[in-house]
Formats: sequence, structure tokens, C-alpha cells
Amino acid sequence: MIGCSRCDRRAVIFQRHSNRHLCKRHFIEDFERRIKLAVRKFKMIEKNDRIAIALSGGKDSVTLTYTLAKLYEKRRDLELFAITIDEGISNYRPPTVEIARKVAEQLGIEHVVVSFEENFGMTLDEMVKRGDKKPCTYCGVFRKYLLNRTAREMGATKLATGHNLDDETQTILLNFLNADMERMARLVPQRVQEGLIMRIKPFRYIYEKEVVVYGLLHNLPMDFEECPYSYFPVRASVRDFLYEFENKYPGRKFSVMNSFEKLIPCLREMYPQIDLNRCERCGEPTPKKVCQACKLLEELG
Ligand code: SF4
Repeated sequence: MIGCSRCDRRAVIFQRHSNRHLCKRHFIEDFERRIKLAVRKFKMIEKNDRIAIALSGGKDSVTLTYTLAKLYEKRRDLELFAITIDEGISNYRPPTVEIARKVAEQLGIEHVVVSFEENFGMTLDEMVKRGDKKPCTYCGVFRKYLLNRTAREMGATKLATGHNLDDETQTILLNFLNADMERMARLVPQRVQEGLIMRIKPFRYIYEKEVVVYGLLHNLPMDFEECPYSYFPVRASVRDFLYEFENKYPGRKFSVMNSFEKLIPCLREMYPQIDLNRCERCGEPTPKKVCQACKLLEELG
């Protein structure tokens, strides 16, 4: 038996970045401490917040919903609710929508399911057949649109997503490799823009593997199915590179995140937030005259 580095109990995880074995209790303590650290550092949760959680039913969002409910259940001034977007991906989305329903019900959290079909007249599967864009283009634009609109209409002050340290460092590195500093600036926390609900990512200091271990230790439903449309060759190369690098030199994902955070003041100065217009068709916020969702809908007829 391998013992915990902090007590006599059996270890459930080896944290390569800290070079420690941790038992269930100390791992959970450490996991939750890093969430609170991120929340405090970027003022993700403030007094009287009403927080919408993007709950897809996948492992990250399920664990996020559980953790936020657990950590903030005593805060009477806070409200949590969950939004699930049903894109209409046959065989893939229905089981996770079911998981989302059960998790929200068990935690006693208000939950809404919003579908592409009801709002845009067609499922993602149908969009893919009709249009000539990649599935993820339709999915990304329409999902963000519905999440933001629903969160705003339901009175949310923040929108929490389950992006973890692995997701964030991949995006940071991708933006560097593409020399896309404008996109990089969009990763800066606490961006306030009228009509856009502020995004918060409480798992930004948590490895993906840790999300899985935490979920399993709490018997949370863990869905590992991959979307049939998932095709990100460049991101996959960056993910594999980061994985190898982290394996050889543990803690490097934290280094990437730290480097990014040191650049935040420069990014804020280089890309100050612009005032958004209202889309002349649907009224949603957009930097242009017509928002991306309305443009794509027009293309799809
Ligand atoms: Fe949507 Fe699937 Fe693409 Fe993810 S991989 S953005 S769920 S189509």
C-alpha cells in the first residue's frame, strides 16, 4: 500500500506536479482549495451572484456543478442554476442530457434544457447535412449564443464553465502558435461586456485527471463518450505535446498558466474591450451589425 504524504491513510492519487501521494481526504481538500484560490483571485463569485452553470452532462460540467453546490451551499446570498444545451447530435447528446437532468435533480438545482431544434428550427445533425461549414463551427456559435441568451434571460450574473487546466493551457498554446493575441485576450478573466454574461472557470488550476478522480471518488456519473463530430487535429497535437512535456517535467501546465497570467495586464492594454452593438436581426450583442448566429442561420436557409 502506498501511503498518503500527509497522513497514514492509503493514497488514491499521485500528484506529479507536487510530487505527493494523497489520500481521499487530502486530495479532496487540495482540489477544493485550488478552486477557492481561483475563485478568490479573479473574484469569480461575489455577494448576491446568481450563477448559471453550463451543464452538458460530461464529466467536467457534472463535477463542476457538484463542487459549486457543495462549496457554496451555505451561502444564502448565492443562487445556482444549470443550463444544458441540446445541440441535437443523435446517439451522443441524449444520454448526457439525461445525466444533466439527474445531477441537477439530485443536487436540488433549477435546470433548463435549451435545444437547437426549438430555437433554430433544426438540430446540429440537420445543419451539418444542409450547410458547408464544419460541425464545430455551427455548434460553437449556436451553443455560445443560447448559453449567453438563456443565462441573461434567467437573470444570471455569471456563467460558469467546466474548462480545466488542460483545456486552458491547450488554448493558450494554440493562440501563441497561431499568433492570435486577440483571441488570447478573450481568455483574460473578468471581461465585462454589456449583454455578455461574465464567464468564470473555477477549474482553471485543476488537471483534467484530477476532475475525473474527484468525480469517481464522489460516485458522480462520468461520461467519457467523444462527440462523433470531434475533429481538432491541431489541438490534438498541442494536447499530446503538453501531455508529453508534463510527463517529463511535471508542473509545466501550471507554468504555461502562470506565464499567461503574467501577460494579463499587457493583453488588457493591447485589446481594451470594445462596446458591442446589438444585432439588427435578433438584438443579441455582437461587434458587427449582424451577429454570427444570424449569418449562419441565413446561410442555412
Ligand atoms: Fe460541438 Fe461536438 Fe464540435 Fe464539441 S466536438 S463543438 S460538441 S460538434
